[in-house]
Amino acid sequence: MQIRIKGAHLLDPGNIDAKKDIIIKDHLIEAIVDPIPDLSFNPISDRAGNEFETDITIIDAKGMIVVPGLIDIHVHLREPGQEHKETFATGLAAAAKGGFTAVCSMPNTTPVNDNSQVTKFIINCADKLGLSKVYPTGAITQGSLGITLAEIYDMKQAGIVAVTDDGKPVENSDMMQQALEYCKGLKIPVFVHAEDLSMADGGSMNEGPFAKSWGIKGIPNAAESIMVLRDIALSELTGAPVHFCHISTRESVKAIRQAKKRGVNVTCETAPHYFTLTDENVKDYDTNFKMNPPLRSEKDRQAVIQGLVDGTIDVIASDHAPHSQNEKEVEFGRAPFGIVGLETSLSLSLKLFHDGFLTMEDLVNKMSKHPAKLIGINNDIRPGNMADLTIIDPDDVYKIDPEKFKSKSKNTPFAGIKVKGRPFLTMVNGKVVYQRYEI
Ligand SMILES: [Zn+2]
Repeated sequence: MQIRIKGAHLLDPGNIDAKKDIIIKDHLIEAIVDPIPDLSFNPISDRAGNEFETDITIIDAKGMIVVPGLIDIHVHLREPGQEHKETFATGLAAAAKGGFTAVCSMPNTTPVNDNSQVTKFIINCADKLGLSKVYPTGAITQGSLGITLAEIYDMKQAGIVAVTDDGKPVENSDMMQQALEYCKGLKIPVFVHAEDLSMADGGSMNEGPFAKSWGIKGIPNAAESIMVLRDIALSELTGAPVHFCHISTRESVKAIRQAKKRGVNVTCETAPHYFTLTDENVKDYDTNFKMNPPLRSEKDRQAVIQGLVDGTIDVIASDHAPHSQNEKEVEFGRAPFGIVGLETSLSLSLKLFHDGFLTMEDLVNKMSKHPAKLIGINNDIRPGNMADLTIIDPDDVYKIDPEKFKSKSKNTPFAGIKVKGRPFLTMVNGKVVYQRYEI
């Protein structure tokens, strides 16, 4: 069977930027062709009598943008072990609805993904679902305890695309140096959760006047930037690439900008909440505003946007961190860190496009091309490549409603806010895994 996506604008930065139709056959992109005239039904022949293949599904994507499948490199799928928060089935349905053809799962599950058995389990479970793809990350250290290196080589053989102790930093600098040297040899990227626990410990929101007025213990910017600076130094020392997760402070952005200028092999990501909200938005001890790193000041938010604009920040990732309602409905200081993000990430990021900060090309780079490059996959829109595509409806205005989330958890600070633009269709291996029918 063939699928023809017609009437859309194709945008694959550096490759294609034109009004074209795409023909998909047997999971692959078969051809990119000039648009045919409007068709309101599946035709058997055109006016000249030339026969079309009859077994063809037309996807009308007029007014929309077809881009290489979006990839979210920072997702907590929670399975195995924390299925009350999320499962592969619910998390990957949320990914598909969010426009993501692939996600990187974080290893802080129960048990931790620190060996090839767990890696294989994740890949098998995800494959069976036939939704968005999962590229697992493995732990840097056994149990993410920071003491002994995990079985990184075995996990790589089993299919991990990066290592991280996300949720925690690797506190010991010597251990981090060893990890970087080892991973450099294996050609596997290290994703860094930059946090100085001695400074952050016990804190629940950004240190500053708002934390003070709420009587909540603060987490200073330096808790993040100290570790960013350390790992820039370790990257320089070892020559190993370092990718910084969820950058939230102006000091971190500045340090990474300067490091890149010096030619240090560093990349970084931020999450939509860091360029959308600040600590001033934390209201009524609502634990849906509690995440790690915390929402920072307006100055930091502006610096994050500037970092995205000037290319210091390479990637937008959601840090999708589902928690059940019971877990979040406790006092602010005791609530777990994290918010869901898969189903709001694209809409919130599109605001940067609508506000003129990023071009659509920038956005596709940060949500698709750069993530793909970082984890070593080729998702170009080219004949012969897998048909992993996202169709974006850039102008559709709607209100975020957590009750409509496919995710098992609803912990979002964005409930009820109006946004513009969202995914229209997500295609993985030539199969439609999400299409928006609801108005
Ligand atoms: Zn983290």
